[in-house]
Amino acid sequence: MTKDTILITGASDGIGAVYADRFARRGANLILVARRADKLEALAARLRADSGVSVEVIAADLSQADDLARVEARLRDDDAITGLVNNAGIAGEQAFVETDPAYLTGLINLNILAVTRLSRAIALRLAAKGAGTLINITSVTALMPDGFTAVYPATKAYVLAFTEALQVELGSKGVKVQAVLPGITRTAIWTAEQIAGLPPHMVMDVEVMVDAALAGLDMGEAITIPALP
Ligand code: NAP
Repeated sequence: MTKDTILITGASDGIGAVYADRFARRGANLILVARRADKLEALAARLRADSGVSVEVIAADLSQADDLARVEARLRDDDAITGLVNNAGIAGEQAFVETDPAYLTGLINLNILAVTRLSRAIALRLAAKGAGTLINITSVTALMPDGFTAVYPATKAYVLAFTEALQVELGSKGVKVQAVLPGITRTAIWTAEQIAGLPPHMVMDVEVMVDAALAGLDMGEAITIPALP
């Protein structure tokens, strides 16, 4: 049987790095994408040594058109790639009227445009094969637009709606499509002060979050809200 090869965006840290670890333990070869090549290389070296899988690193800023096009081309043309985890995302906006419009553009480019274009790049091949996996990381904030900031939850609501539509279109062709909606998960997306200000029972550890999401994937869940049974 040929091995899976999974491309994971935002794999240099947080949720994406744990997905990389878990897919490596499952024997999948990996392509890890993020901006910080040094962090990706360090993770890749560890995963090669621990799991014996092949790990390639692509340094790319997915909010930038040229870098996005490079990763898209790879997903479109490389028949070995059997899965995509669209995980890279940023939050960090202030009140809407106080946030730099350029920051919002970057946020929308990464959280919406890159997710759409990368999904499109792999979808044609997976649909033709009738196999493969597409995991899109959204957020519980997609369900609570009045409880957070203005733009980030809206980007995540887009990803949820988009993924649900793809479940209909690609799922019927044999592709596994999953939307994952993490709650508050202890990663660098939050400042230490923000996490410290939250009741501990509301904060998930990143390993628990990813393991719960993968349990949902294995059960064939279309939408997984990790850590809820
Ligand atoms: P994180 O620890 O900050 O990791 C974000 C990852 O995305 C990093 O690997 C970062 O790597 C990469 N990234 C950021 N900007 C990028 C860009 N322009 N191009 C390419 N890669 C980029 O955050 P996280 O919590 O793991 O977040 C992962 C996903 O989970 C995001 O989509 C986030 O919205 C979602 N999520 C998180 C939580 C939570 O509470 N943590 C809750 C719900 C949803 P580089 O800096 O090296 O590029």
